[in-house]
Amino acid sequence: MDSRAPTLSLSAERTPLLTLPAEVVKNLTTYEDHLSLYIQLEETSTSFSWLKADVLAHMEETCGQGAPLQLSSTVGVPPGTISNYIRVARAFPPEKRDPGASFSLHFQASFADKYNEKTGTFATETRFKWRDKSIDNNLSTRSLHKEIRRAQIRAKEKVFPCMLCGNTEGTMQYALYAVLLDEKMQYFYLDKPCYKKLCQFLYGKKNPPTTSK
Ligand SMILES: [Zn+2]
Repeated sequence: MDSRAPTLSLSAERTPLLTLPAEVVKNLTTYEDHLSLYIQLEETSTSFSWLKADVLAHMEETCGQGAPLQLSSTVGVPPGTISNYIRVARAFPPEKRDPGASFSLHFQASFADKYNEKTGTFATETRFKWRDKSIDNNLSTRSLHKEIRRAQIRAKEKVFPCMLCGNTEGTMQYALYAVLLDEKMQYFYLDKPCYKKLCQFLYGKKNPPTTSK
């Protein structure tokens, strides 16, 4: 490796630490000692993630879009992981990063907005609100993922009003398809009351037939 290559002096050791040094262990006695060291390590690992993200985003700007991909095969990290790091770096520029939230929470929040990988830009700016909401409500990365998905599905459904009454709340998409006719599936949108009315029109007071036997 080139000796002039930039390095970060994150450790006095030449070799990476693979265990706790004896002099550190010696000072770990109380619950608070362990907790404080653990929090320090958690913060360090968050920092490392941001640093890796910045290195990769900077590499893409400086060396071209193919460079991170090349790095991915050299170091044996999946290309998807590499592009995720770049995505988070672009989603949250340094001044928009919150040390109170983990890197993976920032990553998850970035999915609230549509991202163009070619241009490295986001179509909307809702991810900051989602990140803040997760901090305020102590949401896990997993719960944040679910909430964003739910909001996206709701947003899509609201675009179409009920075809019978024009109501936009709780409207769902239905499909009509005749197996034996060589025609495309017909989609239509109804809210629940109108769907019930349609069923009543088709089947009278009886329950609609089901396909199960
Ligand atoms: Zn309706």
